[in-house]
Amino acid sequence: MQKYSRTSRLIALTALILVGITSTVFAYKVADVKAETLREASITKQTRSITGVARSESKNRYLASKLDSINELKLPSGTTHRKDSKPSTEEEVQCKSIVYQTLLKLPTEHVSQLKSLTLFYTTDGRRGLGGGSSIILRCKNVSDAEVAGVLVHEIGHITDENFLQGSKGLATKYLDFGRAVLSDDPSSYFYAISWASDKEKLSDATEADFVSGYAMSDPFEEFAESYAYYILHGEEFRALSANNFALKQKYQILKKYVFDGKEFANYMPNNRTLNKEEREYDVTVMPYEFRAFIAN
Ligand SMILES: [Zn+2]
Repeated sequence: MQKYSRTSRLIALTALILVGITSTVFAYKVADVKAETLREASITKQTRSITGVARSESKNRYLASKLDSINELKLPSGTTHRKDSKPSTEEEVQCKSIVYQTLLKLPTEHVSQLKSLTLFYTTDGRRGLGGGSSIILRCKNVSDAEVAGVLVHEIGHITDENFLQGSKGLATKYLDFGRAVLSDDPSSYFYAISWASDKEKLSDATEADFVSGYAMSDPFEEFAESYAYYILHGEEFRALSANNFALKQKYQILKKYVFDGKEFANYMPNNRTLNKEEREYDVTVMPYEFRAFIAN
């Protein structure tokens, strides 16, 4: 939940070097670890016709192979992250297919910042880690919708760190593991709406100004949560923005600097109600129509 301390960052960094990831990784920001839902596809699979299963599996194999074929992206084996990661072929194909279809829905200029992706298959452990240009993602004991949600959150971190950059600005009070975000980095415009520094919120900031409880952890988690909310819950973000000026500003900055004017549709289940004052804790487990998201 919390950002890594310097010591644990060093441990994480050492671990990364040990597993052979050579890109420069400064830190990992950690997605929430609380939800452990069962794989939802296991229910639907039983009801499919034999022909349907065959067609679906061959499509999944094709989509999984597409992920392997992204030239600039390294896919270290999951076992290098967790030795007890021993996926079946079906598990690997399923997760890679979900990951590939999710990446297709994100702006290519964000996805292209990702250079190393490790998928691992254990029933426990953090669901996602993202930092520098690397992501580590747990594929087992997580629903397809949640794997996609965590992936979008982690791509949010990668986008924040790499796609949005300052050049000539002054150092701000937002220290990303000791490195000051510059004042001409659009990320700093976003952080400044609710944060005095990377640790302190503005004194008048309220829960209603954030998209989730986890977004209140620090400005970097807020960015990643808001990025995921913008993509997976676009209509809800716009509806909340109508009643909250901070959220309205955040939405506008994301729209202008991160998504180049692109807005996302709604994938919310029909029975979902909107609470204007209280926030759920974690965007990555908020329900949404995953099939509609990857189909559009
Ligand atoms: Zn995070």
